[in-house]
Amino acid sequence: MRILRTASNLNQAVRRARAGGARIGFVPTMGYLHDGHLALVRAAREECDLVVASIFVNPLQFAAGEDLAKYPRDLPRDHRLLRKADVDLLFEPENFYPEGFATRVSVERLGERLCGRYRPGHFVGVSTVVTKLLAAAEPDRLYLGRKDYQQAMILTRMVADLNLPVRVVICPTVREADGLAMSSRNVYLTPEERAWAPNFYRALRATALLIESGEVRGAGEATAEVERRLLGSPMRLQYAEALTADDLAPIDPLTGDLVLAAAVFLGKARLIDNVAVRAPRPPRPGKKNDRGRRV
Ligand code: AMP
Repeated sequence: MRILRTASNLNQAVRRARAGGARIGFVPTMGYLHDGHLALVRAAREECDLVVASIFVNPLQFAAGEDLAKYPRDLPRDHRLLRKADVDLLFEPENFYPEGFATRVSVERLGERLCGRYRPGHFVGVSTVVTKLLAAAEPDRLYLGRKDYQQAMILTRMVADLNLPVRVVICPTVREADGLAMSSRNVYLTPEERAWAPNFYRALRATALLIESGEVRGAGEATAEVERRLLGSPMRLQYAEALTADDLAPIDPLTGDLVLAAAVFLGKARLIDNVAVRAPRPPRPGKKNDRGRRV
C-alpha cells in the first residue's frame, strides 16, 4: 500500500493505473476504522482493479463546538487494517485547504432536514471535500455507507447534478451483533451507555414495523413513537423523521418508500441511524379487481 499526501501525486498514480486499463474504486473515510469502513473496501476490492482509500478528518464539516479536535485517531492501526484489506493507495492529504481556499459546494434542499438542521455547514463541508477528493482520485466508483444516509443521498445528487463521471455505490450499514450501527464515535460511549445504545436501532426498527403495518400513519406519530420508545433510557432524541427515501421530502400521511432517520445524544456521543420503511400505499381510487368490482 502506497501512502500519498498530495492531490497531484495521487492523481498521477491513478492515471497511470487507468492507462493500463484498471477500474478504480475509491473509499473516503475520516479514519479510526471499523468493519463498516472495511466493508466498503471489500466491495471496492471485489469490483475494481485499483482500490484507493482516504483518511482525512475534514475540518470543513465540523461546526464550531463539535468534536473536531477530539475526533478519535489511530493511524498505525488504520494502516494495518487497510494493508490487510489489500488497499493499493491511501491518500492522507496534507494542507488540503491551503491559504486562500475559498470554494464551497452546496447541494440544496437535501441538506436542509435531519442532520442539516442541527449541524450548520456540515453537508457543505462534506460535498466540498468529496468534490476535491474525486477530482484527485478520479475513481470509476465511489463507495459510501448507508449508515450516513443523508450524506449518501446528497453526494448521489451532487454527482448527478455536476455530471461527475463516477458511479456511486451505497453499501449496507454494518452493525454490531446487538444491532448498534458501527461508528468511530461509538468509542465515546462508557460501558453503561454502550449497553443502552442498541435500544436506538430497536426503537427505529419497531417504529418502522408499525408504519409498515399501517398502525402508524402520521409523520408526527412516527416521531412520537421513536421518542416514546427511548423514554426511560439515557438517550436524548435530537430528531426522528420519516421522509421519502430518494429526495428526503416530508410526507404526511406516510406512504411509499421511506427512510426513518434519527439522531440521539448518549453521554458524549451523538449517534445517528436510519432504517428503510415501506409504508402501505393507498389503494388507487376506481381501480377494478379481477371480478370487475371497484375496490
Ligand atoms: P466516516 O469515516 O465516518 O466519515 O465514514 C466513511 C464512510 O464509511 C462513509 O461513507 C460512511 O457512511 C461509511 N460508514 C461509516 N460507518 C458505517 C457502517 N456502520 N456501515 C457502513 N458504512 C459505514
